[in-house]
Amino acid sequence: MRVLLVEDDPTLRAQLRTGLEEAGYVVDEADNGRDAHHLGAGGDFDAVILDLGLPVLDGISVLKRWRGAGSTLPVLILTARDSWHEKVAGIDAGADDYLAKPFHMEELLARLRALIRRAQGLASPLLQCGPLTLDTRSSRVTLNGQPVTLTSHEYRLLAYLMHRPGTVVSRSELTEHLYAQDFDRDSNTIEVFVGRLRRKLPAETIETVRGMGYKLVAPP
Ligand code: CA
Repeated sequence: MRVLLVEDDPTLRAQLRTGLEEAGYVVDEADNGRDAHHLGAGGDFDAVILDLGLPVLDGISVLKRWRGAGSTLPVLILTARDSWHEKVAGIDAGADDYLAKPFHMEELLARLRALIRRAQGLASPLLQCGPLTLDTRSSRVTLNGQPVTLTSHEYRLLAYLMHRPGTVVSRSELTEHLYAQDFDRDSNTIEVFVGRLRRKLPAETIETVRGMGYKLVAPP
């Protein structure tokens, strides 16, 4: 999952980036409202973490511009402590959720997971596809109740597909959402991970849709 992190405080931004990357997210960042607006309008993100107090252009204005342009990006705003009017203004501007500073990384990650799930119309943190279950809280996968051991790359690929069961996902979309810019974006990489997943799961779980990409189907 690819996240846009917008925060002008360098210390907090570095802490958040580390926490997000450890949780398996690919992170793009901005430290001012103008860059944030530009990145969010052009990029394909699974969610945005948006601080409201930003230089150049404030967070509320950034959010209003995205929403005004029809963007449905899931947005979690970061508000100053005890600032109830910021929360109200943020939600009215189109934020999906908010978190007041200071906060625990665990809470931010839980809210982010919920935001990404709800954007795909999924209510439960436990994603199910036939006998296959993926717990987004613990990053555990089971098949018929038996644990399946996956590497972090394999897990991220499977989690992305399990958020979109039955939908064809292209290789370029997977590359965009699963790997940082500096990752070796060789087109074969996705195929290698799909091949590994097929050996660990019933092979028919990940269907190749010729010329288009991959689709998750419920294994028998
Ligand atoms: Ca700030």
